Amino acid sequence: MANVILTGDRPTGRLHLGHYVGSLRRRVELQNSSKYDKIFIMIADAQALTDNADNPEKVRSNILEVALDYLACGIDPEKTHILIQSQIPELCELTFYYMNLVTVSRLQRNPTVKTEIKMRNFEANIPVGFFTYPISQAADITLFKATEVPVGEDQAPMLEQTVEIVRRFNRIYGETLVEPKISLSSNAVCCRLPGTDGKAKMSKSLGNCIYLSDEAETVAAKVKEMYTDPGHIRLSDPGKVEGNVVFTFLDAFCKDEDFAKFLPDYANLDELKDHYRRGGLGDVKIKKFLTAVLEQELAPIRERRKELQKDIPYVFEVLKRGTAAARETGMRTMEEVRRAMRINYFDDISSLY
Ligand code: ATP
Ligand code: MG
Repeated sequence: MANVILTGDRPTGRLHLGHYVGSLRRRVELQNSSKYDKIFIMIADAQALTDNADNPEKVRSNILEVALDYLACGIDPEKTHILIQSQIPELCELTFYYMNLVTVSRLQRNPTVKTEIKMRNFEANIPVGFFTYPISQAADITLFKATEVPVGEDQAPMLEQTVEIVRRFNRIYGETLVEPKISLSSNAVCCRLPGTDGKAKMSKSLGNCIYLSDEAETVAAKVKEMYTDPGHIRLSDPGKVEGNVVFTFLDAFCKDEDFAKFLPDYANLDELKDHYRRGGLGDVKIKKFLTAVLEQELAPIRERRKELQKDIPYVFEVLKRGTAAARETGMRTMEEVRRAMRINYFDDISSLY
């Protein structure tokens, strides 16, 4: 069986550090590993409309922003198809049939959707499209016969739902669809990077993000404001590392060699944490270090993004070609699906007898 990757992002804003450590950084590694036969990255504009129907302009204008972020991070259009979800009508068709394989109560149990409903204050006014987006996400994954889906932890319930649909479909209509596997970062903090406020996961909807395209001064200012340990008031006070966003970010980003470069008084992160716990280490110092570590990673991405921004017709071509290639794959799968369901009436007159 072919090794196929599918992932994606909602074009509801530019991409942030949560996307980067949760999925994007790994996508680039996997892309360059030569282990995969096909890689698809979807800009999920139709899914973004499920909770932004009254603001289509936001979704439309962010398609290009997300594409620029991908390319700036090293997604290579020669190896990876970048596609726009709404331009693949087969996804709607597949979703329509999957809807019959999922119950309302099953959707109501999805913990990620539950949290998101609360976050958006939908209460009784949940759009049907939003409520059912895990089903359309199952279509996204399976239309391309993805075997591996590199995402953040919040996507685990979507993958479980997808596997259930695949099993149900194959049982009823015969072996057709491929079961996908979630692929999470091996570094636990990367699976769910918190926002700069330390309250919840970094998320475009919560305004607690550091964006990949933020200027150096903006990154420094956001790090300065970052939540640390409210009990760590005087320099001599012992500090907490757990729940301290600066340390969580260091867990996600810093490598031992960064100490030699930017903070040679310590050999590694464990030593720095020990000192902070003991007391005598101020927040300013750890924040300066984090800013340097982030800047090292973000500066080249920012520069590439600025270059790419000068050639938008190229980005447009990348999207157009990626979407066309994805559509070809999608059409083939959909033919198989129709055949399995025996609704390919006009291909075979005997199917009507
Ligand atoms: P929105 O608020 O519009 O839902 P978002 O910031 O949650 O936006 P998505 O487009 O929903 O971003 O998520 C895209 C991908 O990035 C998913 O694979 C998701 O798991 C991952 N991701 C998003 N936020 C984080 C985070 N804070 N930590 C790790 N992974 C994340
Ligand atoms: Mg999200």
